[in-house]
Amino acid sequence: MVQVNSNYLKLKAGYLFPEISRRVNTFCESNKEASLIRLGIGDVTEPLPQACCKAMKAAIDEMGTNAGFRGYGPEQGYLWLREAIAENDFKKRGCAISAEEIFVSDGSKCDSSNILDILGAGNRIAVTDPVYPVYVDSNVMAGRTGDASLTGHYEGLSYIALNAENGFKAELPSEPVDLIYLCFPNNPTGAVASKEQLINWVTFAKEHNSLILFDAAYESFIQDPLLPHSIFEIQGAKDCAIEFRSFSKNAGFTGTRCAYTVIPKCLQGKTVKGDEIDLWSLWNRRQSTKFNGVSYIVQRGAEAVYSLEGQSQTKNLVSFYMENAAIIREKLTVAGYKVYGGENAPYVWIESPNGMDSWGFFDFLLNKANIVGTPGSGFGAAGEGYFRLSAFNSRNNVEEAMRRIASI
Ligand SMILES: *Cc1c(COP(=O)(O)O)cnc(C)c1O
Repeated sequence: MVQVNSNYLKLKAGYLFPEISRRVNTFCESNKEASLIRLGIGDVTEPLPQACCKAMKAAIDEMGTNAGFRGYGPEQGYLWLREAIAENDFKKRGCAISAEEIFVSDGSKCDSSNILDILGAGNRIAVTDPVYPVYVDSNVMAGRTGDASLTGHYEGLSYIALNAENGFKAELPSEPVDLIYLCFPNNPTGAVASKEQLINWVTFAKEHNSLILFDAAYESFIQDPLLPHSIFEIQGAKDCAIEFRSFSKNAGFTGTRCAYTVIPKCLQGKTVKGDEIDLWSLWNRRQSTKFNGVSYIVQRGAEAVYSLEGQSQTKNLVSFYMENAAIIREKLTVAGYKVYGGENAPYVWIESPNGMDSWGFFDFLLNKANIVGTPGSGFGAAGEGYFRLSAFNSRNNVEEAMRRIASI
């Protein structure tokens, strides 16, 4: 019989979202009249920007003609999209990132897990706690960790706690690590990293020859003009960082699928023998072998994000969600809750009231207000006692949810 990858057996069996469904289903069975409001999911709710739809329709028509038909595109993405990205997301913010350093893909979730393909097994890895579960689980699947302890921490990973006491700042580890996952604006806490904090991380990485994997999926939600949008705004980051970006949240592409990864050409790793080798070439080789590119139609849709029309429409989308976040913050604060995040990110991170644990507060909100959120403990042990509400919803749902919470 075929052998399975036994690393998968170390996974904590997708505990969070199935458990949420189980509790919601149980509740609905005995409360058939209840109208639930789901503020738990990290998925967008508003329609695609019209500029993107228009561009994708035009691309479909092109594909239906002899002159406009296209087969396999470049595995790295079409140059016109990579140039639009380099110009708008980097050069305009003073970062010297070239089109060649950009790899277009069908998602940051897969990029941030596939990147392990080009990294060795002996790396010491640091993640934050709470964390976007993909970083941890992809390392478990790739055999880069030991087993999970009772707290859910895997042997072989270093955890950097994010909590109210440290202002949800990712503090530098006390021991050297080779690989560091950072996500700012942060999912799930909604916290951001200041320029000074990122400078400290880049300094640390250069000192210890470590690699930072920087997930900037939520950069467009940043409102404070002083906050960096990219790790490459920090001097020296091109020698120690890879950045993941996605069109999922700023342009509503969660179901359309387009993202990109930036690997600077000067970024080096080392072989077992200690020779230096550039990571760009390895990722280029990996993508050319295992990936056949994003559909032409979708890349035209992504390109339209950078058009004048697309820029104003995506700005409006982000503003809409950030107004939701502001409403959630304000109403919860008035109702006596302690809230964090939600000012430069679409997530509000709430302290569970009266010493309730995360699941206790989940059940409380579900039963008393028919609201579904996400228990913080599902993102890691340090998330215990916290709760995530997402600003991705209609205005009506957000306002109604806040009325309900205020009345319980
Ligand atoms: C939503 C999200 C992404 C985007 O993933 P896609 O695969 O591009 O949709 C990346 N990182 C984090 C932390 C996210 O929450």
